[in-house]
Amino acid sequence: MNYQFSQTSTIAPSATLEMNSKAAALKASGVTVHNLSVGEAMVPTDPVIIAAAEAALEADHTNYTPGSGITELRNAWRNWMETEYHAVYDISETTITAGGKHAILLLLQTLLNSGDEVIIPAPYWVSYPSMVHVAGGVANIVPTTNTDDWKLRPEQFRAAITKQTRVLILNSAGNPTGTVYRKEELSELLEIAAMHNIMVISDEVYSSLVYDGGYTSCGTFEAYRNIVCVVQSMSKHFAMTGWRVGSVFAPVEISKRVQTLQGQSTSGAASISQYAAVAALTDAERISGSNRSMLRARRDAMVRACGEYGITMAPAASGLYQFVPISMFGATTELSVIWCTEMLEQGHVACVPGAAFGTEGYVRLSFGGSIENIQQAVYQLCKNI
Ligand code: PLP
Repeated sequence: MNYQFSQTSTIAPSATLEMNSKAAALKASGVTVHNLSVGEAMVPTDPVIIAAAEAALEADHTNYTPGSGITELRNAWRNWMETEYHAVYDISETTITAGGKHAILLLLQTLLNSGDEVIIPAPYWVSYPSMVHVAGGVANIVPTTNTDDWKLRPEQFRAAITKQTRVLILNSAGNPTGTVYRKEELSELLEIAAMHNIMVISDEVYSSLVYDGGYTSCGTFEAYRNIVCVVQSMSKHFAMTGWRVGSVFAPVEISKRVQTLQGQSTSGAASISQYAAVAALTDAERISGSNRSMLRARRDAMVRACGEYGITMAPAASGLYQFVPISMFGATTELSVIWCTEMLEQGHVACVPGAAFGTEGYVRLSFGGSIENIQQAVYQLCKNI
């Protein structure tokens, strides 16, 4: 059959998921694979959250929920935004989605017309350019540098703006770099966006995994509320990746459209997951606090293990990953896909090439797995240097 496909469906598969499946296939063939490619903390979800899901099942909360999400969760989440980040949102500005990933896609589909441009600083989270493409837009990638702490500078932002620019995607705390923008830096970027009528999608799904210093949400800036859409997620804060619950905090006109689009597509996050998420947010300080401490210990274990082989790196300021040059591991090529494939096939270590994040010559090493896994993987990466 000669199938005809839409232009927007022509996208590359997610590099992180792909590396995970290559590692899984190798594992299935009997090889011990050390996985540094995971995009999540490898821990079970907290028992309090599981108990809430069981209670929701017992209570027969098994029907469709509103396209905006259940009221209990919308209220619990906006309270969390206010307590954690002084970002005040009305319930009408709060939407529950089937994960943060779909939240971003819904926003792009809501905001973009064919050919509209979206500015994406690189290194970027792997899915942004594809999602922009699916929504009919054009990604305008702006490279940032390690010396600038991987941050978009105001002058770079200004220079990238064209007549077609509609959206800037900001990701603080960032995947893969761990970069956290300071309040003044965000304020400057938001001022430029406001001057040019550019909407800002602020992906804040790692906001609770900041290891040193504070965190500023783009939702705290009263002056820029009309241009900011914050994306949040249960996945990273509460080790709930498989539950698929995210959220959007945005001006009411945008929220309404996001809700309608969701109502006409997925119908929203699973009802049981939404009730479980209420329990997570009600006990947020304990659960996300213990997650953060555990991940800080794993990050430190990775930095220490690399240090034992003479590879020194600054610990990531946030998130789940160390993003480092492959040359540190003795790579003789700049091509990160080639190097990562070699590492998988010969060293049996799975990691994600910098190319997948728009930055060649680097690798993303996840410290989401156990300390034992991290130490063995680092040994495999370093033993032949
Ligand atoms: N944004 C970033 C930067 C991510 O790394 C991820 C997941 O890895 C997401 C959004 C989406 O997370 P989820 O769909 O699990 O909420």
